[in-house]
Amino acid sequence: MGEQNSPNSTGAADRDLTSLTAAQLAAGLTAGEYSSTEVTRAHLDRIEATEAQIGSFITVTPDAALAAAADVDRRRAAGEELHPYAGVPVALKDLVVTQGIRTTAGSKILEDWVPPYDATVYAKIRAAGLPVLGKTNLDEFAMGSTTEHSAFHVTRNPWDTDTVPGGSSGGAASAAAAFQAPLSVGTDTGGSVRQPAAFTGTVGVKPTYGSVSRYGIIAMASSLDQVGPIGRTVADAAALHQLMAGHDPHDSTSLREPVPDFLAAAAAGTREGSLKGRRLGVVKQIMSDGCASGVAAAFDRVLALAEAAGAEIVEVDMPSLSYALDAYYLLMPSEVSSNLARYDGMRFGLRVEPETGPVTAETVMAATRAAGFGSEIKRRILLGTYALSAGYYDAYYGSAQKVRTLVQRDFAAAFEQADVLVSPTAATTALPFGEEESGDPMALYVGDSSTIPANLAGIPGMSLPAGLAEGMPVGFQLLAPAREDARLYEVGAAVEALVSADRGGPVWQSAPTQYSSEAAAATATNA
Ligand code: GLN
Repeated sequence: MGEQNSPNSTGAADRDLTSLTAAQLAAGLTAGEYSSTEVTRAHLDRIEATEAQIGSFITVTPDAALAAAADVDRRRAAGEELHPYAGVPVALKDLVVTQGIRTTAGSKILEDWVPPYDATVYAKIRAAGLPVLGKTNLDEFAMGSTTEHSAFHVTRNPWDTDTVPGGSSGGAASAAAAFQAPLSVGTDTGGSVRQPAAFTGTVGVKPTYGSVSRYGIIAMASSLDQVGPIGRTVADAAALHQLMAGHDPHDSTSLREPVPDFLAAAAAGTREGSLKGRRLGVVKQIMSDGCASGVAAAFDRVLALAEAAGAEIVEVDMPSLSYALDAYYLLMPSEVSSNLARYDGMRFGLRVEPETGPVTAETVMAATRAAGFGSEIKRRILLGTYALSAGYYDAYYGSAQKVRTLVQRDFAAAFEQADVLVSPTAATTALPFGEEESGDPMALYVGDSSTIPANLAGIPGMSLPAGLAEGMPVGFQLLAPAREDARLYEVGAAVEALVSADRGGPVWQSAPTQYSSEAAAATATNA
């Protein structure tokens, strides 16, 4: 019995394969304990059984997943040398371009778009032999924090189906938390991997800008966008990051240096005493106001555990962070307004002709964009176009760029005093549905204040579970200097082990696995 709980045990065939981590599955597949076909089928069955309640996916691709699994099984049987994670299934946020599989960005404007090429991350995932289960739900074009802005349906938080999973990578995070997929790929422009990870009790990483290729990732705000891994454990996120990272000549922002060994870093973090002397910097300006009491308590508990394990807690001052949110909500919409200009009804995606009047390029563009974009997209295009217009450019866009430089300088100074910076990932646990309808988009924008500084500075960030507050997961955010992603995995694995020891098991193992059927009805009517 005890053996079943050991992290290296890959278990007997009667054990539910969906309850295993990616690392356990990889080990079991390598040892021949089960086939990728069995693993993939188990996850597809789990998706079928739970998808009506959770709604993680826009498109499920069972045939392609099983074909990829069969191919890996055949190659393994033939004695071919395989990637260590070959055969472990993965889900992709529907912002990742996949040849022959429709890619919607959660938008009506791309509802029927079947891409003619592959994103680099998808090509890498396929080359490594990881079967892709499907494309997960998101806020339209990754703009939002709840996944309620998807043009298709809402996604429910597996911990409480009356709450949102966060966003914009809400479907990717819920798929991991609901045991529908051991791994998923998200994107993070202002927190969209870390915040849903926090809300769903999973681990999500925003890599250093340029660590993972963005070729074939539908652009939101190009100077901020990064692709990132989501898994249930730090080691699983490390494995997926490792697989996706590396220089790509198709992405001019892609880093040229070799990919560090993130898995080794995560393993080092679990060694006794790994936190000794590590300086954890608590940023005064992140979350000083308005953090929910349960979140603050869980965060403080982790700090106390880390301190007891030998870490040094220091307070750092980053005055520019008070302006970071404002800068983000000028720079991001500016880039959005430019990136989304390509959806014009002429080249690809939806095309709508005006109901009355002449059919000209301009009237088709107007009709297409009016019908194809949701209100949040339109709001941001308007804001960005305004911020970039002659006469306002210097006042808005120019000033925001200056703040961005100050944020980068403040981070450089902070990392002189601390090895990693820590904060709650979000001020609250998962919110109930409908906060969006409160009519105040600003209220939601403010929720991003702890995550966006990392995107402005291009530095890596991780959210991992700090524990629970009133039964719901709380996220603990770690930030490291640019190119020091490995440090996140090392410290993250140490913190994960402390939290797990403190509560008598990993947070993700406490996630409910059965969901109410009322949720199913509500999800279906929204579709
Ligand atoms: N919630 C943020 C926004 O709405 C972040 C989005 C993201 O990271 N893609 O812009």
